[in-house]
Amino acid sequence: GEALAVSARVAPLGSRLVLLLVEDLTEARRIEAVRRDFVANVSHELKTPVGALSLLSEAVMDAAEDPEAVHRFAGRMQIEATRLTNLVQELIDLSRVQNDDPLEDAEPVRVDELVAEAIDRCRHQASTKQITMAAGGTADLHVWGNRGQLAAALGNLVENAVNYSPARTRVGIAARHIAAPGGALIEIAVTDQGIGISEKDRERIFERFYRVDPARSRATGGTGLGLAIVKHVAASHGGEVTVWSAEGQGSTFTLRLPEAGAVRDRDRSPHHPV
Ligand code: ADP
Repeated sequence: GEALAVSARVAPLGSRLVLLLVEDLTEARRIEAVRRDFVANVSHELKTPVGALSLLSEAVMDAAEDPEAVHRFAGRMQIEATRLTNLVQELIDLSRVQNDDPLEDAEPVRVDELVAEAIDRCRHQASTKQITMAAGGTADLHVWGNRGQLAAALGNLVENAVNYSPARTRVGIAARHIAAPGGALIEIAVTDQGIGISEKDRERIFERFYRVDPARSRATGGTGLGLAIVKHVAASHGGEVTVWSAEGQGSTFTLRLPEAGAVRDRDRSPHHPV
């Protein structure tokens, strides 16, 4: 009697285990496919500037007698080299945000500092395009997280806002505190008056290497990795990033992150001293 009862208990458990294993394998296969795609994408993205550099160096050699042409080709080589540098840097950033646990060295991070840093990063590009950058509401706000990763995320959003906007427009950064049932949040919204993003593209822009207009994105040094980094950072901090956009009018990217004080209240325990 007892044996029967045991086997009756074990049997459903066994089939559930098999099911779990199968699901696990499917998931493993999916991850493997994503990894393969990623490597293929990276290889392709690296080949493009390297191929261009190779062709341009040949052109320079052929044009040795024509200083003006040499100058022109050298200028284009510089652009390709910059693209390559950006790509490698973003790949490093992406692997860093994917591998490091951001909350391992999390701390309260001042929003006004994050915003100032992001603006600083784009100051040169904004001034060449006469784009005004303005920030508001950031005083006294603190988010909870990894300073470097949060700076990279916000920096990418502001950089995109400047990149995908015409000259003489405005980029606004507004922060505010929101009370939420699961703990207070800080919302940081980056608004531009740029080209906007269609509904179809809005679903895909957070994918690695997805670019609405690869030619335009390349011209600005874009890699298609920026928003993937932002999304990853937001999610691993227990937050999110969303986008609102109207084509031809502009876009708003909104980061929502746990407020530092809220995390402190929730995790007040001897194991999580703050
Ligand atoms: P990239 O390095 O190409 O900018 P991202 O991952 O940062 O890559 O962005 C993906 C794509 O989303 C961009 O190529 C661009 O087409 C679009 N995009 C991102 N931000 C904006 C924006 N503020 N306005 C319009 N389009 C944007």
